[in-house]
Amino acid sequence: MKKLVVGNWKMHGTRASNAELISGLLAADLAATAPRADVAVCPPFVFVADVADALKGSAIAVGTQDISVHAQGAYTGEVAGPMIRELGAKYAIVGHSERRSYHAESDQLVADKAKAALSHGLTPIVCVGETLSEREAGQTESVVSRQLKAVIDTLGGQLVQIVVAYEPVWAIGTGKVATPEQAQAVHAALRAQLKAAQAQAAVVPLLYGGSVKPDNAAELFAQTDIDGGLIGGASLKAADFAAIARAA
Ligand code: PEP
Repeated sequence: MKKLVVGNWKMHGTRASNAELISGLLAADLAATAPRADVAVCPPFVFVADVADALKGSAIAVGTQDISVHAQGAYTGEVAGPMIRELGAKYAIVGHSERRSYHAESDQLVADKAKAALSHGLTPIVCVGETLSEREAGQTESVVSRQLKAVIDTLGGQLVQIVVAYEPVWAIGTGKVATPEQAQAVHAALRAQLKAAQAQAAVVPLLYGGSVKPDNAAELFAQTDIDGGLIGGASLKAADFAAIARAA
């Protein structure tokens, strides 16, 4: 199976810096130099149209960092699935830890966002992950399993169509990466949970995210149950992001 490498640009960029980043990514010719990776980038909403146009015809897909649960209506500030789809995006990240913590997104809201993405032809990248205090309290597996259960219960037969990203909160943007063994252990538990819910869901891609860099990507991607990465900081540098895609 091909790996999936997704860049989360978070709230970074200008039209000028995005153009430079995209020209670096196109020059890296990932279709030829990273043939074992499917690649996507998730810019802030306001840049999605520009970025999708600039990447049209390339091997790099586009996603968003969030999605509304509603298809349209009086929901000021929200962006709906059909709008995202119209711009040519393929993925929508849901439940990133920054949205769970700064925007109080509940497990059920995240699951409903995953359902909304699917109902508009987008693939949700569902993020799960524990905080440092939860890890230290030995709660890692119970936390990610609770987060994933809401998605399993909400999606029913559509479960097989999602992507899951395990992102330990203590590793996001901190430079503290989970060891390949720590990541693999959680991925194996997530895989088992998906498979127990539905046999076909054993193939759901499981990405690792949290301080993935060119020098640690290959070791993480070599783990049995790590099917790719969700990349924050390093996705803002074309050379680093390309190197991570090539590590697949
Ligand atoms: C992220 O925000 O999804 C992420 C993994 O960030 P970083 O790679 O910067 O830790």
